[in-house]
Amino acid sequence: MQATKELCLFCRIISGDIPARKMFEGDDVIAFEDINPQAPTHILVIPREHIASLAEVNDRNKHVIANVIARAAEIARALHLEEEGFRLVNNCGEAAGQTVFHIHFHLLGGRPFKWPPG
Ligand code: AMP
Ligand code: ZN
Repeated sequence: MQATKELCLFCRIISGDIPARKMFEGDDVIAFEDINPQAPTHILVIPREHIASLAEVNDRNKHVIANVIARAAEIARALHLEEEGFRLVNNCGEAAGQTVFHIHFHLLGGRPFKWPPG
């Protein structure tokens, strides 16, 4: 969790201070439904450790991200998303659409996706 007094939104979801529809809670990673879904399945997969964005990932904390991605793949398989394909999206920085500065991966499935993304 974030060390400072002001916890970020996702640290507050992790602590249970703010409710969320959690569908996975592990030692290092939690997953919950996005409040504003962009696809029939839209789950946010996040580490318990507060890392602000992908721009802060390095050799010291890369195992945290490996765990998040492995968990996202497990969830995708559990929901059979791999049969039709799915997306795992990270927005890094405001210009790329990041609005919550606690690293998270959007697991999106249940519809076709276009490329390039908007
Ligand atoms: P991003 O724009 O990539 O930073 O993604 C942040 C995501 O968090 C958005 O898709 C929001 O819909 C989602 N979100 C914001 N507040 C909540 C909340 N309280 N519970 C669940 N998802 C949220
Ligand atoms: Zn946080």
